[in-house]
Amino acid sequence: MLAQTLDPTLRSHPDYDQHEQVVMCDSADLQAIIAVHNANLGPATGGCRIYPYVSGDQALSDVLRLSRGMTYKSAMADLPLGGGKSVIIANPATDKSPKLMLAMGDFIESLQGRYVAAEDSGTTVADIGLMAQRTRHVSGCAKNEAFGGDPSPVTARGVFDGIRVAVSFRGQSDLKGIRVALQGAGNVGFHLARMLVAAGARVIVADTGRDRVQRAVDQLGVSSCSPDEIFSLDVDVFAPCAMGGAVNARTVGAIRAGIIAGAANNQLESDLVGDILLQRGILYAPDYVINAGGIIDIYYQTQGIRDHARIDGHLQVITRNLELIFAESQRQGRPTHVIADELARARFQKPTGKIATA
Ligand code: NAD
Repeated sequence: MLAQTLDPTLRSHPDYDQHEQVVMCDSADLQAIIAVHNANLGPATGGCRIYPYVSGDQALSDVLRLSRGMTYKSAMADLPLGGGKSVIIANPATDKSPKLMLAMGDFIESLQGRYVAAEDSGTTVADIGLMAQRTRHVSGCAKNEAFGGDPSPVTARGVFDGIRVAVSFRGQSDLKGIRVALQGAGNVGFHLARMLVAAGARVIVADTGRDRVQRAVDQLGVSSCSPDEIFSLDVDVFAPCAMGGAVNARTVGAIRAGIIAGAANNQLESDLVGDILLQRGILYAPDYVINAGGIIDIYYQTQGIRDHARIDGHLQVITRNLELIFAESQRQGRPTHVIADELARARFQKPTGKIATA
């Protein structure tokens, strides 16, 4: 295992944001990065993503932004966890093998518990199970399917509740007849679409994977459109549930929905597009606030607590946070993502601060 701390020039990286530790592995078996953003509240916990990044710098930017988001997410979800994330530079469709997963397990073990990995885009419960053969610092591979494993259904439940809060804030009492454009019908998106349809919403899905679209159309009776059209449909809610950056310089002017609320991490390409959403009167549910269901589920898995009522109770933190953020945004006339960041920082930053060692 070749693990090394990244060089000090990292501090000038635009996404560095005072990470506590960033290590990379560049061996014949594994090219990966683990980022520990902040461990003030507990061990840095976050998913392991496998993606065919075109460059090491693209992978580094992604892991830094995702890891930072985990710190903010866990703090807002009232969890005793810090923020971290890992990425494997590989194509999940063609490069995944037991050897790769075991090597990642060794890499995670080398941090001796400072980072705890879970499932993310490109990894499955089975992949985490392979890593668990080499390290106990993983979560989300519980064998009891009635409880553990894939956190996506709980993430979807949190997002569903968050959409209800946003719709209610805009003066509509329930989801009946609400039109939702859902980008990405994957693990979370599919469960979310099922709940929305059951609540009487009219759902349109788009996915770059045809099989994903077909599954949602066949099993849930939703309609579909092309990935290029989904963000500009005349709907009430745009729900990004695919990759990051759905709201960007190209799409922000074309979005016609009055609400943006979905599961994807890092939905805003930049703070600037968040400001534009406020100017355009679009209510944005900050991503790490609304999609915290997964990390809440993972936390209870790591504690071995199999109490659904307790998890459901904890999920209510999402609706409480959103109600507070929407109200403060309206009162102060400032964007929701700024209000959320301020609330999160107040929860995880210690008055004395820590000295960064990356
Ligand atoms: P997934 O890989 O199962 O689903 C993502 C889907 O998006 C795939 O079906 C993919 O084909 C599709 N997609 C990719 N690019 C697209 C595009 N341009 N247009 C339309 N569709 C596109 O992942 P997931 O587990 O469902 O997670 C979805 C998002 O939610 C990710 O950003 C993830 O980081 C975030 N998230 C997931 C969880 C969780 O519990 N799984 C928790 C918090 C946040």
